[in-house]
Amino acid sequence: MQRRWTSRKQAGLLEHERIVAEDSSTCYSQRVSIEFFCEYCGKSTPALKPSSWRCICGGPWSLPPGPPFDPDAITSAASGVWRFHRQIRLPSGHYPTLGEGCGRWLRANNEPSIALAHLEPTLSFKDRGVTTLLAWASLAAQPPLIEDSSGNAGGSFAAYAAAAGIPCRIYVPASAPPGKIAALHAFGAEVVKIDGPRFNTTEAAIADNDGTYCSHAWNPMFLEGTKTMAFQWWQEHKGQFPKRIYVPAGQGSIVLGLFYGFREINAAIPDFTVPAIMPVQHRTAASLWEPINIDGPAVEPRPDDVPSIADGIAIDQPVRKEALITAVTQTGGRVIAVGNEEIRNAQRKLTTMGVWAEPTGAVAMAGHMQVGDDDDALVVVSGHGLKTGKV
Ligand SMILES: [Zn+2]
Repeated sequence: MQRRWTSRKQAGLLEHERIVAEDSSTCYSQRVSIEFFCEYCGKSTPALKPSSWRCICGGPWSLPPGPPFDPDAITSAASGVWRFHRQIRLPSGHYPTLGEGCGRWLRANNEPSIALAHLEPTLSFKDRGVTTLLAWASLAAQPPLIEDSSGNAGGSFAAYAAAAGIPCRIYVPASAPPGKIAALHAFGAEVVKIDGPRFNTTEAAIADNDGTYCSHAWNPMFLEGTKTMAFQWWQEHKGQFPKRIYVPAGQGSIVLGLFYGFREINAAIPDFTVPAIMPVQHRTAASLWEPINIDGPAVEPRPDDVPSIADGIAIDQPVRKEALITAVTQTGGRVIAVGNEEIRNAQRKLTTMGVWAEPTGAVAMAGHMQVGDDDDALVVVSGHGLKTGKV
């Protein structure tokens, strides 16, 4: 296999390539071929040599359900989410990890449990998915790696790319918080700021042909890492979950990560009761409201809701919308829509518990507060307040 780039970590990356060359497209842990498939038209493509970043029909690539969860296969010998390697559809190898997969639960009297999912190496849950996405990229992508992000995914991507020694180019909305853009520069990423709505940033990244588009929204390997939330929490709480989990939802990677993780747990442990997944969205980007809450009134943003302070979920149409609808409805969840004032109140509420969340990171708490009187719940905090500053 030819060298495809040079870097200070080249020796490590070439080791990955040797492993693949010996056993192309084969997952060691399962001994099955890894393929992406399109949920829209059924086409498939080799996961480590995909035909393109998405299917020719326009649909996103997906992975089939993973193997049933095997608690005995969790290994303390690996770092980060890689301790769940048996569930991750990538060949054995030495991948960039920063020890992600550490967010625990905070329990308080008469309050919901809080999942501190933001307490990761780059202060966002995105690190779980980026380590598996970058692992895939180290095997399958021609650098520079191209990503588009409102900030958190980009910051995580830049950090892991730096650790792996792989050049990356991150497209961000010009309106992204300065602290998030500063992190991209700190990690040595090439930063391209794009004016206009969030969608413009994605279009600009897609149009860039000098490298490989490795979107966390489009590439299913991101969800392979995100789903380890379910495994970690199952392990730490001996399979006992609250009845409902409130999560922020833009592209919905926490929704899908939890759903796929629970699906693999359920395949091994049939009496495991899957919690209801409750996506919380901003009133200006409530893409799941109408298809899921079919009997509810329409969502009407209020004057104070524009512009949205929840920049991390400012997504009009998530890439995996159909899969999100399936995940929420199959678990018995429903959608909650909140606005700027409720999010600020949720930020303040969290600070009284010792937790500092950025606005997007407090969205799930805002949803829980709107529902009210639900102590049998887990509220996911996804991003740290240090990224955006004052409450
Ligand atoms: Zn297709």
